[in-house]
Amino acid sequence: MAEIAIVGGGPSGAMCGEQLARAGHKVRIFDERLAWEKPCGGGLTHKAVECFPFLLDNPYPKKLVRSVELISSNDQRANLEMTHPIVIYSRRVLNGMLLDRARAAGCDVQQAHVLGVDTSTTKPRYSVDGEWRTADFLVLAAGARNQIAPETRPLKRDELEMTQGYFVPQTAESIIVKFLPHFEGYIWSFPRCDHLSVGICGSMAAHNSTELKTHLSAFVEKQGISTEGAKFYSHVLPSPRESTLSDRAVLGKNWALVGDAAAWVDPLTGEGLFYALRSGELLGRSLAEGCPEKYTAWVKAAFSSELEFAARIVRRFYRGSFLGTAVTTRMVQFMNRSAVFRQLMSDLFSGTQDYSSLKRRLWGHLGITVSEFIASVLNLERPATAQVPRGGAAAD
Ligand SMILES: Cc1cc2nc3c(=O)[nH]c(=O)nc-3n(C[C@H](O)[C@H](O)[C@H](O)COP(=O)(O)OP(=O)(O)OC[C@H]3O[C@@H](n4cnc5c(N)ncnc54)[C@H](O)[C@@H]3O)c2cc1C
Repeated sequence: MAEIAIVGGGPSGAMCGEQLARAGHKVRIFDERLAWEKPCGGGLTHKAVECFPFLLDNPYPKKLVRSVELISSNDQRANLEMTHPIVIYSRRVLNGMLLDRARAAGCDVQQAHVLGVDTSTTKPRYSVDGEWRTADFLVLAAGARNQIAPETRPLKRDELEMTQGYFVPQTAESIIVKFLPHFEGYIWSFPRCDHLSVGICGSMAAHNSTELKTHLSAFVEKQGISTEGAKFYSHVLPSPRESTLSDRAVLGKNWALVGDAAAWVDPLTGEGLFYALRSGELLGRSLAEGCPEKYTAWVKAAFSSELEFAARIVRRFYRGSFLGTAVTTRMVQFMNRSAVFRQLMSDLFSGTQDYSSLKRRLWGHLGITVSEFIASVLNLERPATAQVPRGGAAAD
């Protein structure tokens, strides 16, 4: 039985702790805030629910959303209906549920700020409540903001996104995603049980906070969302490049990184909750087997190629053009004009379509998508209108 200390009790730390405690290890989780309203959309896709069915199957309050409205940078709109809903939690509730599960499995969960860690000794040390303590293994799950791992480099500006947003005391039934001209990021509105999380994310290397604020203000005004009484938030979000994913150390002899601390976030969508839970689970299992070295191989098999694909295309997706117009605008247009393409986007959005087989599916459906698009542009499928007799009214 090993003693494991986990710094950070967010989704990655809590999930890792739960796995280890279930396997009989002595686990201490330290979080300076415990269950708190971390700036987040709080949206979990179907792949997360499929992997962790308890996310749906529990009495904690959550909102199931089946429709998404996408708005292009020139304000064209398309609606998607999803077969599998996005499950949206307030982060206070989600973190609370995950910490409850960790406690129930046997973790000792403490509210405390870990000031530093030292992994140079055989047994790693961490500083908490004014004293240095030791453990057999340290799990660093402190998120994107507090990178306290001494043996790995902090993320750089071009590996991070800035986010700003509001928790708005208002409800809605649809998710909204809005793209912006020449902007690496997007605006979202995620409805929760009793409020909206409305925010914007943008590459830290390409944009500044004033730009983000201006875009977000224009959006809330146009959508008629009142920010009176709303709570403002800002936070950072990892946006890994291919080199981040291939080069950055995430495992040492007596420590490992999970979740945002490891930069495991989809750079295209900003989805991080699934990767936080999955990496926490995989590290927990590998440590429980006494083989931490399996961790990186399991992560590679589970999701690395997905994140690498997203990192490869993210700039082309937000900045590129297709047939003379922004890629994101063409995407909205295709959704409006092709049922096949709309279904593909719905699966992609809800998390049932992965990136690895996306290219094959796109090619496979190219012919029908293009013909649907052209038929719709030329209005070929419109039922023939009744002939208006010369000099008279329409027949019906
Ligand atoms: C604005 C925004 C919107 C997002 N929307 C979504 C979304 O809709 N869907 C999605 O899938 N992902 C979303 N994400 C990403 C998601 O929030 C993260 O990927 C996820 O929270 C990562 O979980 P984690 O456990 O690794 O880190 P975190 O959730 O950041 O948890 C880290 C924990 O460590 C604690 N901590 C930090 N330092 C210390 C210390 N020194 N001592 C003790 N405790 C410490 C903190 O209090 C915190 O609880 C969003 C992110 C942002 C910023």
